[in-house]
Amino acid sequence: MRKVLKIFGWLVLAGVVVLGGFALYVYANRRVDRIMLIDDWFDEPEAYPDWFVMGGEYCPGAPMMFPSDGFIGVGWNDGTPPMYQHTGYDIFSPAGYEADNITPIYAAYDGYLTREGGWRSAVIIRHPDFDDLPEITNGEQIWTYYTHMASADGETSYIELDFPRGTREKFVEAGTLLGYQGTWSGRPTPIALHLHFSVVETTASGGYADETQISNTYDPAPFLGIEEWDDGILRCRPG
Ligand SMILES: [Zn+2]
Repeated sequence: MRKVLKIFGWLVLAGVVVLGGFALYVYANRRVDRIMLIDDWFDEPEAYPDWFVMGGEYCPGAPMMFPSDGFIGVGWNDGTPPMYQHTGYDIFSPAGYEADNITPIYAAYDGYLTREGGWRSAVIIRHPDFDDLPEITNGEQIWTYYTHMASADGETSYIELDFPRGTREKFVEAGTLLGYQGTWSGRPTPIALHLHFSVVETTASGGYADETQISNTYDPAPFLGIEEWDDGILRCRPG
């Protein structure tokens, strides 16, 4: 009897492992599915008008303005942990894979803009007074980060001239033009045209946390009024 119980126990354990593995596989691939649509989008963006979110406008009831035109092809936490977890939204312009310096990027919320001296393609905005989502932020200061605003070789910045390297704490209103989408990846190999946008936590000393760690970021969805629909597309939640 004891032996039978033992075998039964092992069978249950094996079942849990198999089912868990399958669930993980489905989960990971759901996320990959969205990323796989990016090529379709670039091939024929006009074929997918319902994937498009308009930059400079607000999804119904959202506290933050949508920061650029396009399809959210990579969402927050997309990827396969622990190897890779995406820390924000990648918004792919309908202008085309390499159509640099055309698609505007806007400040999502009033705040104070900083561009570090070494930043070719990125700016970050401090939002000390963000209290629209107290259940998420506890009313604490947050930051929004915007990057890939440079040419494929990194030589030409597409950030507005108002924000040269070394800019610190310059006040900008929501909707201020920050620059344009580019293809600079930070490496010699360019990336497909998009804006990487993230919502970043504040460190104990009041600075911005390391945006490359997902634990230092918030899911941008509630800030932008976005939700994942049944078809896996991230778009404005119904008003
Ligand atoms: Zn990204």
